[in-house]
Amino acid sequence: MTTTARPSDALAPDVLAHAREEVVETLRDLIRIPSVNPPPEPGDGELRAARYVASVLTEAGLHPEVVEPFPGRGSVHARLRGDGTGGEPFLLLSHLDVVPAPPAEWTHDPFDGDVADGHVYGRGAVDMKDLIAQQLGVVRLLAAEARAAGRDPASDPIPGLTRDVLFTSTADEEAGGFQGVGWIVEHRPEWLHAEGAINECGGVAVTVGDKRVYPIQVAEKGFAVYRIHVHGTWGHGSMPREDNAAVLAASIISRLATPGEIRVTPVMRHFVETTAEALGGELATTLLGLLGDDPRTSERRLAACDAMYARALRALVRDTISPDVIHSGIKYNVIPGEATLEIDCRVLPGMTEADARRVVEERIGPELLAACKIELVIFAEPVESPHHHPLFGLLADALRDHDPDAIPVPFMVPFATDAKHTTGMGVPTFGFSPLKLAPEERFLERFHGVDERVAIDALQWGLPVLYDVVRRFCG
Ligand SMILES: [Zn+2]
Repeated sequence: MTTTARPSDALAPDVLAHAREEVVETLRDLIRIPSVNPPPEPGDGELRAARYVASVLTEAGLHPEVVEPFPGRGSVHARLRGDGTGGEPFLLLSHLDVVPAPPAEWTHDPFDGDVADGHVYGRGAVDMKDLIAQQLGVVRLLAAEARAAGRDPASDPIPGLTRDVLFTSTADEEAGGFQGVGWIVEHRPEWLHAEGAINECGGVAVTVGDKRVYPIQVAEKGFAVYRIHVHGTWGHGSMPREDNAAVLAASIISRLATPGEIRVTPVMRHFVETTAEALGGELATTLLGLLGDDPRTSERRLAACDAMYARALRALVRDTISPDVIHSGIKYNVIPGEATLEIDCRVLPGMTEADARRVVEERIGPELLAACKIELVIFAEPVESPHHHPLFGLLADALRDHDPDAIPVPFMVPFATDAKHTTGMGVPTFGFSPLKLAPEERFLERFHGVDERVAIDALQWGLPVLYDVVRRFCG
């Protein structure tokens, strides 16, 4: 338990209450700008979202910059100054884009930002306009403190800040970030260069039994997408052939879809051991079972778990392959001579593209492989930030300060975020969007899901947590 005073305790109650209301309204405003990626015509949602964020920053007295390196794909940045005695800046990173949301199954329009049953509904409510709103809330508080001290927040140091705070919110994360953070790495690296960064995916309460675990993202898997061209022989459907390309493709898919061997990386081992120790009982046995030598035992234990968590855990202890696209055939009575598959491979830290390809080839086996041409579509490295970094300890402390029952643990996510780009340029990046969620929330299902929503009290709880993180890391 931390005993030091929380910087947020120095905020006047009415100031904090107002800032908390603003976080909710900012989130709703952001949801009402459909910054969908891939952009539908005319496709300027991300630019409009960037301009909206810029207007909030300008109103706070800052001088934000919006860039549009590709038509409609806007990113936005602002800098708050410290007095320079604390070293390199601190980066608040986020993305402006959201995945599409076909409204048919939603109970609220995905782009209305409705409030109902204590939640804000809408695409982006948890991925990740919630954290943008929280980060903007912190930036507003800091800028207001500068103004109150008679300083210009756009150019003067913010009272008490020893390092600069960078706010950078980007386009295109949902498609790999190449037209957003990827462009910024090349052309505006000073928007990202920092001693440490926080980004989406972490610091969210998961209730397990009667314990509240807060996984903080320190690592993420890499991905390799391959297009496999399968060659068979064309023919007449009345006389079936073994080298029907659709039949070959089906065999290849069933081989690729078989789960691979368990491989526990250091981050996952640390996560499993820390969490098991904190939870104790049956759950600890289940978790520790993942580390054992016998995959059948761990699978039996996982099968007894909540399916949502079991799916995530299975994916985190192995390299995975998901065959997601198959095309073949032109007519019911013509044996297809060609088939095309697209597969999504997610690799653990330590794997290269060559390793991923070798696994795919071995799975397919030499005979079927002779009928295949494998083409790489895209590869992104797995990344890891050190969980002994001072910023990680500070994030964990901030959670415990605001929730004495919090159990913060370092975690790896099975998917990719913009942290790939910042970690690649040497900025330790941690997933931290603090939400004290109620036990019944199914957070993992909200991501890209129907009726995406965030609980207002959880969202508002995170504001002073984030404020304390910034104040302490930069103080
Ligand atoms: Zn996201």
